[in-house]
Amino acid sequence: MKIAIAGAGAMGGRFGSMLAKNGEDVVLIDQWEDNVKAINQHGLKIETDTGTEMYPMRAYLPQEIDEKMDLIIFFTKTLQLERMIQAIKQVIQPDTQVLCLLNGLGNIETMEKYFDRECIFMGVTMWTAGMKGPGYIHLSGDGSIKIQNIGASGEKKAQNLCDVLSQAGLKASYSPDIMESIWWKAAINGCLNAPCTILDCDIQALGSTPQINPMLTAILGEFQAVAKSQGISLDVDQIMSDLAKTFDPSQAGKHFPSMHQDLIQHHRLTEIDYMNGYVSRIGKEKGIDTPVNTFITELVHNKEYLLKAQ
Ligand code: NAD
Repeated sequence: MKIAIAGAGAMGGRFGSMLAKNGEDVVLIDQWEDNVKAINQHGLKIETDTGTEMYPMRAYLPQEIDEKMDLIIFFTKTLQLERMIQAIKQVIQPDTQVLCLLNGLGNIETMEKYFDRECIFMGVTMWTAGMKGPGYIHLSGDGSIKIQNIGASGEKKAQNLCDVLSQAGLKASYSPDIMESIWWKAAINGCLNAPCTILDCDIQALGSTPQINPMLTAILGEFQAVAKSQGISLDVDQIMSDLAKTFDPSQAGKHFPSMHQDLIQHHRLTEIDYMNGYVSRIGKEKGIDTPVNTFITELVHNKEYLLKAQ
């Protein structure tokens, strides 16, 4: 199968290398020139808890590649997704399958603007990865993927896609209600990412703050109301219990969420408009009050401004 990974950062590198090691014909496409150059010169540098390897892979800037793909897996940041789709039009055929595993809300609207619903697969992944520099990723821990087709007739194709990913060790399974999983993950991220970024702390420290429960309840109440307006049911008690587990230092507690890494550590623009900011925007459209998520979104944008994030 000819597979393009569109967005060859931490997650794109993980998925691309695991699929290639299983014998798939994989190319990496990325807009970051230094990254593409490093991968082509030395291979993808993959660091794990047990060692480091240089794994040879082909990488291209979007404008450099003109090969038709059977499958494209998107792993840009959410705010880069639309630009990437536009930049790689030449590799897309009418029956190219496209899989979006980005975090955040609103990605499905972007995908539907450019692809036939029958070709779109949406998913969530619990795999993680970190970017240490151009062509250099760190992988640790275990993960899984849930996938669903968006078009009415695509369940069989989604199952086949799960097989391709699972054979590469990526543990993919079919989900009949992927939008609930996408909202669940966005709600978890909406409670951890922006608060840890604004407070400049890890997840364990966030969990130890005296006002944590009222703050999370306020954020989640607004997520729940806006999700309901989209026909999605969010179980706030379950999410509160899932969040409590992440505060544990033996779980995710010692981890700085990706928004903290992006903005505070690397001065990069964040995915806030597709997390708390999406709840704020859709809330306004639907006449649902979302003062807490609106304020959080403004704080993160102000921090982006102060840090001259790009
Ligand atoms: P990433 O930042 O590593 O890569 C995303 C894009 O940004 C890539 O095109 C990459 O080349 C580019 N990029 C990275 N650093 C750059 C730099 N210094 N200068 C210029 N460009 C740079 O993002 P990711 O962690 O792979 O995440 C991709 C998507 O997957 C996001 O939606 C994220 O929320 C989601 N996700 C991430 C994880 C994780 O553990 N990293 C887990 C689940 C979902």
